[in-house]
Amino acid sequence: MTGIAALLDVEGTTTPLDFVASVLFPYAAAAIPDFLARHGGRPEVAEASTRIRADANGAETDLPDPERVLTVVRRQMSADAKAPGLKALQGLVWAEGYRSGALRAPLFPDVPAALRRWADAGRPARIYSSGSVLAQRLLFAHSDAGDMTPWIAGYHDTAMGPKREPASYAAIARDWGRPPATIRFFTDQPAEAVAAQAAGMLTVLMRRPGNPPLPADPPCPVADGFDAF
Ligand SMILES: [Mg+2]
Repeated sequence: MTGIAALLDVEGTTTPLDFVASVLFPYAAAAIPDFLARHGGRPEVAEASTRIRADANGAETDLPDPERVLTVVRRQMSADAKAPGLKALQGLVWAEGYRSGALRAPLFPDVPAALRRWADAGRPARIYSSGSVLAQRLLFAHSDAGDMTPWIAGYHDTAMGPKREPASYAAIARDWGRPPATIRFFTDQPAEAVAAQAAGMLTVLMRRPGNPPLPADPPCPVADGFDAF
């Protein structure tokens, strides 16, 4: 085991904070009706639709499909719900958007070089984000710097636990087979840094364009990019 491995948050760390809210979610909202009309018969789309219909919970049940599915989707999206059916459908829509070139994920300019530098030095990098593992893979496969997935050693989402819980970071270290002290977690969220520290990881708070100001007394070192690491 050589050097310190990197565990990377996405929003506000590798990618502008508003990409998901300002680009991905509006794209899904606009594309879902046409997507359902074109792909409603595909098994994975039908499965997501079945889960979404189940989320209707008695409301909207008088509507015929696909209006019922669309009505539930619009209600869940406006409430920022994390319902599994909605997340699955969004993931399928984003996959098509990325593959068609309609969507491309912005990375901060130092990110691609850092991923390559770490990989070349035998220092693996993994991702830990509240976006699903599928959404993470799509984002890094279709970034504005090209396909970054060859330089990323693994992906974790909240299946490992919430991002503000030390146990989640302990679980990631166990899964990785590395002592926590050999992992440096980069995030824009002080509460996430505190949780990773409690699990024994090194931490860095990211000051990126578009992020809210960090507290005056940050719990760990602060950096504007990955260049120094
Ligand atoms: Mg973040």
